[in-house]
Amino acid sequence: MEKRVRFAPSPTGAIHIGNIRTALFNYLFSRSEGAKLILRIEDTDLTRSSKDFEKLIFKELKWLGIEWDEGPDKPGQYGPYRQSERLPIYKKYAEQLINDGKAYRCYCTPEELEEDRKQSVAKGDIPKYSGRCRYLTKEQEEEFIRQGRKPSIRFIIPDDETIVFDDMIKGRIEIKSDTLGGDMIIVKSDGMPTYNFAVVIDDTLMKISHVIRGEDHIYNTPKQLLIYKALGFVPPTFAHAPLILGPDRTKLSKRHGNTYIGQYRELGYLPEAMFNFLSLLSWSPEDNVELMSKEEIIKKFDFNRIHSANPVFDVEKLNWMNEHYIQKSSIERIVDLAIPHLKEAGYIDTVDDNLYKWLKDVVLLFKDGLHYVAEIKDNAKMFFVDEIDYDNQLKGEILKGDAKNVLLSFQKELEGADDISEDAIKTLLKTLQKKIGIKGKAFFMPIRFAITGQDHGPELIKVIPLLGKQKILNRLNKAMNLIS
Ligand code: GLU
Repeated sequence: MEKRVRFAPSPTGAIHIGNIRTALFNYLFSRSEGAKLILRIEDTDLTRSSKDFEKLIFKELKWLGIEWDEGPDKPGQYGPYRQSERLPIYKKYAEQLINDGKAYRCYCTPEELEEDRKQSVAKGDIPKYSGRCRYLTKEQEEEFIRQGRKPSIRFIIPDDETIVFDDMIKGRIEIKSDTLGGDMIIVKSDGMPTYNFAVVIDDTLMKISHVIRGEDHIYNTPKQLLIYKALGFVPPTFAHAPLILGPDRTKLSKRHGNTYIGQYRELGYLPEAMFNFLSLLSWSPEDNVELMSKEEIIKKFDFNRIHSANPVFDVEKLNWMNEHYIQKSSIERIVDLAIPHLKEAGYIDTVDDNLYKWLKDVVLLFKDGLHYVAEIKDNAKMFFVDEIDYDNQLKGEILKGDAKNVLLSFQKELEGADDISEDAIKTLLKTLQKKIGIKGKAFFMPIRFAITGQDHGPELIKVIPLLGKQKILNRLNKAMNLIS
């Protein structure tokens, strides 16, 4: 049988890291097993779904390099691939279930259901639908319809049945039917199918062989298996991937920081870093190598090596990986990613060829130490602002002793220098040290601090030509005023 997997996100929010990781596992499964990957948009929750969120799904998957074979934008023989375009299909199967006595119309009002729920909670029971409408007579139904009540459709959950399935990641799972909340709604009173119903119809009709999704769906699986059985469908193989946790070991959420993948993209995390990082959440290759290209990951990926322990989203590890990929990137790529951040900070406006060339040189000074591109705003700030602030403590430690002498003589030399290229500055500094008899740290630190406001940073002979004479002279003045 042809292997087919699917990624089935709901466009009800900016796509979450956890969903992207599910997409990635489906993608890796498909590419390593020669399976087809289907993208299906589950947009039946009309109040929460939006086209904008749907667009973000496409955008972020493409950014990450996850390609699919069939989907709303890639016609295949099992479409449409958006649930909101498949309503007649669900209706047909819901009616079949009613005709077979496996589902019924329920006319309970939200108030009645809420009352039932309160009563069960008061009794200490797990809330469960009472089954009130399971055996309505024709007359009772007609009366409800006359009252204008709009029915939902409920699927009968059998009592006392144990549903068993073998999960590819979690192993054998057994769940008792009486823990499932009672007869479940499969079509809401507005005519929209619920997730558990639509997913069974779609996975069957789209010939899905393996359902790979987050473990938050484990308790949905027995409900879905009961529907498979009721409709005479053959269920797929299930694999529930462990949820990603935050550093405090609770489910990854906004409390832990960014959960929308686009926030990482915007900060200047590179897609290959994200792809690599996410692939290692719950999986590792046999050789335990961590830095891998997409092609290497696909080559090494083995679904059986996914383990069931919950992985922790470790931003420091992501930063380390991203730093590596930034180092490997061309300077032009990093400059292009840096420009929007520098614009946003108000540091630059239009970028002409000269500015671009200068930016390349500036970014190059910091490129190898960036965790993510947006850090350039802080790291390279001294190149863009007129005035720099001097830290009081450092000022006390550095601007003392011979410092004034060093700064004064450097100022004089610089004023007279026509050439401030890297080579010229190198010679200038060398000669000056000899001339005033101060060298090493006592010589370089005051200069560095005066012109950059920092006690560490890129090589001075590179910084000076890029800062330019005027800026440096101004800063030297300011620093010297601090001494007297
Ligand atoms: N729309 C569901 C979700 O986003 C799909 C779950 C599944 O893969 O079955 O969680």
